[in-house]
Formats: sequence, C-alpha cells, structure tokens
Amino acid sequence: MEKIISLAKQRGFIYQGSEIYGGLAGTFDYGPLGVLLKKNIENIWWKRFVTDREDMYGMDASILMNPSVWKASGHVDGFTDPLVECKKCKKRFRADHLENKKKCPECGGELGEEKQFNMMYEANGIYLRPETAQGMFVNFKNVLDSFHPKLPFGMAQIGKAFRNEIAPRDFLFRVRELEQMEIEYFVKPDAWEEVFKAFQKEQVDFLLELGLNKDHIHQVDIAPEDRAHYSKHSVDTEFDFPMGQKELLGLAYRTDFDLRNHSTASGVDLSYFDEETKSRYIPHCIEPTFGLGRLMLAILCDAYTEDMLGGELRTYLKFAPKVAPVKVAVFPLLKNKPLLVEKAREVYKELKSIIPGVVFDDNGNIGKRYRRQDEVGTPYCVTIDFDTIEKDGTVTVRDRDTGEQKRVTITELHELLKKSIA
Ligand code: ATP
Repeated sequence: MEKIISLAKQRGFIYQGSEIYGGLAGTFDYGPLGVLLKKNIENIWWKRFVTDREDMYGMDASILMNPSVWKASGHVDGFTDPLVECKKCKKRFRADHLENKKKCPECGGELGEEKQFNMMYEANGIYLRPETAQGMFVNFKNVLDSFHPKLPFGMAQIGKAFRNEIAPRDFLFRVRELEQMEIEYFVKPDAWEEVFKAFQKEQVDFLLELGLNKDHIHQVDIAPEDRAHYSKHSVDTEFDFPMGQKELLGLAYRTDFDLRNHSTASGVDLSYFDEETKSRYIPHCIEPTFGLGRLMLAILCDAYTEDMLGGELRTYLKFAPKVAPVKVAVFPLLKNKPLLVEKAREVYKELKSIIPGVVFDDNGNIGKRYRRQDEVGTPYCVTIDFDTIEKDGTVTVRDRDTGEQKRVTITELHELLKKSIA
C-alpha cells in the first residue's frame, strides 16, 4: 500500500487533502491523472448501467436535502457506528473493529464505554447526505409523472456523500468525503429475488470490465445482524486489498422501506398503479451501490506491477486500456530534428481528434519516456523516426506489458487504439 500511495502522489493521481496544512484526515484530492482515471470509471459505469439499458433513468440530486428526509429514512436514528474512546490518549476507535475492547490498541490505556455515534455531518440543522440513494427516492414520483415507466425500472446517479467516519484509514478505502455510484431499482413486491441475482452478476461483470483480477473478487452474504437498518438481504462484493479482503461494492434488498416511510412522513402518495393487475402498491427496491474511491483503489492495487525488463527493475501500472488515463503517448525519436517533431505533432493531433487520453512527450531519451509512461499505465507508445518520414509513413508502437515494438501504418494504429478502448 505504501508503494501505491507514493506512486499515486508522485505521478499526479492522488494527493492528501489540504496537504500543505498537514492534511485533513479522511480527505484526498484527485490530481490530473486521478481525475481522468475516475472519469473513465464513471463513464464505463454510466454506459453499462444507464445508456446501454432502456429501463434506467439518470439523476443528479442535491447534496443538501430537507432534514425530514433523514428522519424518515431512519438515518437520524439508525446511521450509527459503535465508538469507544481511550481514557488516556483520547483516540477514538470503531468498537466493532477492535479485537480487545478493553485496551487501547495505540497506547495501551483503558477504553471507555461503547457509545453509538451518528456518522452524518450536520451544520445548522442541515445534513450532508451520507448516501446518494435518498435523492432518488424523493424524486421517485417526479420520474413516474414525467416518464410513466412500467416496473421494473431503475434510477441511477453518481455523486458525493459524506460520512463522519470514526477512524478514516487505508488510503481511499475509508474516507469522510466519498463518491458513490448508486442504482435504486424498483420491482413488483414479489419479484425481487431474480433481479437481485442478476445485479449480483452484473456487479462482477462490471469489475471484470474494469480489468480487476477475478481471483481477487468475492461475494459474501451478509448476516442479518450486520445488515444496514433498511436491508432485508445483502450481498457484499469484497476485494483482496493489501490490508485484507474488504467490502468494495454493496447490494441490498431495501424492500419498500424507503418509499413507504417517505409516503407516510411527507403525506405524498408514492404508490404505483399496475395497469396489468389493476392494483396499486408501493414498489420494492434493490440497490446496487459502488464506491468510486474504493474502485480506484482496487484498480490501482491490481495494476501495480514490478518486473524485470531489459535487465532492469521497473514499476508499472497494468491498467486495462479502457480505464487507463493516458491511452497513447506520441514521441519524436529525437527532439532536435524539426522534421521528426513536426511529423510527431501531426500524428499526435490526429490521434487526439479520434480518442481521448493522447499525450506528446519529447523529454529525455526514449528509454526514459517509456519508463515514465509505464509508471502511469499508458498501454501504447508511438515513436516517429526517420523511416516514418523518408520511407513508408509507418510508426513504431511499443506495448507496455511486453516492451515489444512493431511497425504499423497509421491506419493500423487507429484500428489498434479504437479496438483496445472499445
Ligand atoms: P463499511 O462497512 O466498509 O463501512 P458500508 O457497508 O457502510 O461500508 P455502504 O453504506 O453499503 O457501506 O456504502 C456503499 C458503498 O460506498 C460501499 O460499498 C463503499 O464502496 C462506499 N463507501 C462507504 N463508506 C465509505 C467510506 N467511508 N469511504 C469510501 N467509500 C465508502
């Protein structure tokens, strides 16, 4: 993990939040490459779960909501973690994460009584949302009225959520300001099980599309006493992180809990009229949820590779081309030959107009440029040399993983790049 954190910082993926002031626990800032990687994950998710389907409605709800939302959803009373505080050093811990609940794991001091600690941030009576889900439940009727969808259908959104975690840790894994990609999928009350199973598979397929190693993915049934307050059945998708097997994604059967509570609390009827059966009922809901930061971390962990190439140790990120922030780097063989530079810039501009994530680099020797691109996970490097200009217009393409180079025409290069990111 230390190596990944250090590479992520040095190469402009992820910085500690407010670093020049000593940081702020549980916050991170995404740098230029981190933001590209994050957007790629979001786009793949949005395409798979929203645009490629006919039964999904995209949303972007406010982070700030009427406080009544959080009362009705059960978060004011139930969104808590068990906290214990050390009487000596005053450090706070999640009681359920401690092996010995009597003794402080840091200073050995005596631990106080276990208390329930509400994780919602609150300022002047307004909460920062701890999940994006409620923004969809409160807009359920709006979507029904505007689009008249038939069950089953879903609502999806990507956005920030905030949790006052007692002990933020493990880099992006447990932070206080996080991003979620969530779906609330509404079904007939007796039709939840099949849909649940289908989403369970979809979650794994999505992780494989991102390039994660299938041996590192595990789905685990959550015991009733460990489920969230709104869930009647939960399956977590866990991942082998460097600190152990931990939750990456969640899947919960939220029943009609949220819509029913909002109906009662707001006095607005959130039921659905079923044309087929001519009956009215409150739909049940299946919620697949995806933490964007945890996905980033999983991708970085699986991509981080050290090997020997050309007799030297190298570190590189073996990203799937689809998620790689930079897809291709274009180099002139020599920086001081105007003809090479001119041709390289021409190829660079052309590629930039057809795919995202193209960079130009003429700094240092070719070997150094390859290493720099390897470190940020660029799948292909293209070099323009004298043969490109004097002979046949072909360029060399170097493959990140094998280090192998081959000559291809510009048309072949376009095809290779388009195919690798499709
Ligand atoms: P945990 O048990 O690890 O605290 P959770 O069960 O509370 O997680 P959910 O409420 O199911 O998590 O949240 C949905 C998703 O949001 C999680 O699967 C995870 O990917 C992400 N997530 C939740 N809390 C955090 C956090 N503090 N930092 C980063 N991601 C988070």
